[in-house]
Amino acid sequence: MLNIVLFGPPGAGKGTQSAKLVERYSLAHLSTGDVFRYNIKNNTELGQLAKSYMDAGNLVPDSVTISMLEAEVNKNPDAKGFIFDGFPRTTAQAGALDEFLSSKNTGISLMLALEVPEEELVKRLLLRGAESDRADDKDESIVRNRIKVYNEQTAVVADFYSKQNKFKAIEGVGEIEAIFGQLCAEIEATQA
Ligand code: AMP
Repeated sequence: MLNIVLFGPPGAGKGTQSAKLVERYSLAHLSTGDVFRYNIKNNTELGQLAKSYMDAGNLVPDSVTISMLEAEVNKNPDAKGFIFDGFPRTTAQAGALDEFLSSKNTGISLMLALEVPEEELVKRLLLRGAESDRADDKDESIVRNRIKVYNEQTAVVADFYSKQNKFKAIEGVGEIEAIFGQLCAEIEATQA
């Protein structure tokens, strides 16, 4: 299986690049943010629980997020592999993902991290907020809080995969196609 963690701060381009990677490598795309938004839209119990955290730009608690992620993986038993987009966001989530995947005799092949300077992230997110109905992209203080949460709680997840020699950083500023080309080159290098 080819299981990729697509990593990076909010606004780094994970969603855009995931869509392209999914098509190129026939993988299942699993975005925890998308699953939470779907549940909020449909007013499920999970959606009600996640909403207050998401509205403030904070992380949904690990226990909730980890069980949700495992359930989503189990819904795709025939997948050739997964792109994890927006997960793991804490070291506890990364540890749980390793354990869960190894119970299925598989594991993470590679973490690809998109690197983008903070002011560029703020600019991109506020632009997305103006063009979409994502409430957490509309307010600059919430956008900045999400970046702060990323720096304080999520950035360390890179070390987790770095220790396993699975971490690759990619410059996330430039043409979408050029960035995609670099991501593909890293994936193909691990498969060689
Ligand atoms: P995203 O679409 O990835 O930017 O996620 C939007 C929001 O969903 C985040 O700001 C969090 O509130 C929540 N969320 C998404 N993924 C996770 C995760 N792995 N752990 C905790 N909260 C998450």
